[in-house]
Amino acid sequence: MKTFTVQNPFDNSSLGEFPFSSREDTQKAIEIIHSGKKELCNTSYFERATILENLGNLLEKNAEKLAQLITKEIGKTISDSRIELQRSRNTVLCTASEVKNIKGETLHSDAYPPKRDRLGIVQWFPLGSVLAITPFNFPINIAMHKIAPAFAAGNTILFKPSPQNYLSAKEITRLCYEAGMSENTLQMCMPDIETMGEVVADPRIHCINFTGGTHAAQAIAKNAGFKKLLFELGGNDPLIIMDDADVPLAVQTTIQQRFGTAGQRCTACKRVYVHDKIYDVYKEQLVHEAQKLKVGDPLAEDTFVGPLVNTAAADEVFSRIQKSVEQGAVALIGNKRENNIIFPTILENVTADTPVVAEETFGPVVPLFRFSNLDTVIKSVNASNYGLQSGVFTQNLAIAKKLYAELEVGALAVNDGPGFRAEHFPFGGVKDSGIGREGVYYAIREMSFQKTFVL
Ligand code: NAD
Repeated sequence: MKTFTVQNPFDNSSLGEFPFSSREDTQKAIEIIHSGKKELCNTSYFERATILENLGNLLEKNAEKLAQLITKEIGKTISDSRIELQRSRNTVLCTASEVKNIKGETLHSDAYPPKRDRLGIVQWFPLGSVLAITPFNFPINIAMHKIAPAFAAGNTILFKPSPQNYLSAKEITRLCYEAGMSENTLQMCMPDIETMGEVVADPRIHCINFTGGTHAAQAIAKNAGFKKLLFELGGNDPLIIMDDADVPLAVQTTIQQRFGTAGQRCTACKRVYVHDKIYDVYKEQLVHEAQKLKVGDPLAEDTFVGPLVNTAAADEVFSRIQKSVEQGAVALIGNKRENNIIFPTILENVTADTPVVAEETFGPVVPLFRFSNLDTVIKSVNASNYGLQSGVFTQNLAIAKKLYAELEVGALAVNDGPGFRAEHFPFGGVKDSGIGREGVYYAIREMSFQKTFVL
């Protein structure tokens, strides 16, 4: 039997060794949700709303226990984990209220004169069974962004979390059942990666709602055929700081959105472009503030930067920092490691080819670019294969509008960073950052199809 170990990334203690789901168990789980479709379709939107309200309340009731658990599983600081639990509850409660508003529309057939007396009634129907695959970094909120809207739309769900989150995933599955979802509606399973191709290709699965890296997405796309694909992938998100920026606010945002979750966020500020006129002031304040951050045990109340998720991740990020320095980048702070902890690192004298910039770097590293011409920044941002989110600090609406029009991204936040997210806003990227949109209203419709009734 193939197994995996869940290891606390801070002290490398084992949280347990668990078996991967066997092929037979995975097939059984798929068959259960396949046969469960009819049962769920027979529930009303209001019944689903009540179950989601129960789930939101249960997440609140169990918030501290779950926050402690995810901190142990992935090393996220306890304050970040608590915020994730609040957001997860909001995601579920927003979905509970949205599900009551799902409406169709009525059309007149005027554009077809011979049959202009016909009426078209258009209603939303569930796609069928959704395979929800989640990454390690927001193990509860991302799961809720998939499970809650899929359920609201009337889909059954096969939930495949990251092995690192096995314990919290089991716990939220249990809470979904306690809230009122049936086992025929939701099944969690943990096949190994070698078996995932077969699961993705299974004709009883109709939609793959995946959040994770681009490589895994490519493997999924290869096996999925014509299934509906929803991909929330990586980013190399820019933060642009103009010469009229509120510098202290820009500094605070950079700290929050690059060093929070030890930089392991898809929408972290992965490249910071600072206008020449304020570059030195911003840099000095950023270094000053970064030096004050408490680094260490993620369970300690005042820790701001904890470990990366595992040793392989820490090896990768630290080696990229070192290669960047070898290639001419200057480390203003950081470039230091203790076990799986990478200390907050700020690099200047970087280019698009610097290793921490060239690819998505999932760690607490800020590369600083100095600029004087905004068009060169736009060109540099758009040269990336990624296009998730972006942020700009400016008081000038014309500049904000220009960036909104010209940046190839899913969102631009003004006087905030690329990490901005409200659970009911559309969320997703362009290019290699993804396909489709999360955000409860949008996700419900992405996991539904419109069927027309002609009378
Ligand atoms: P990952 O791609 O390694 O794993 C994500 C999930 O996919 C896990 O459950 C994993 O077991 C599974 N998986 C891996 N290979 C697979 C395959 N071949 N077939 C099917 N499933 C497979 O990602 P990760 O390391 O857990 O998370 C980090 C990545 O996720 C980063 O790139 C980050 O930017 C991205 N991410 C994106 C968003 C977003 O909303 N855009 C949010 C969080 C994380």
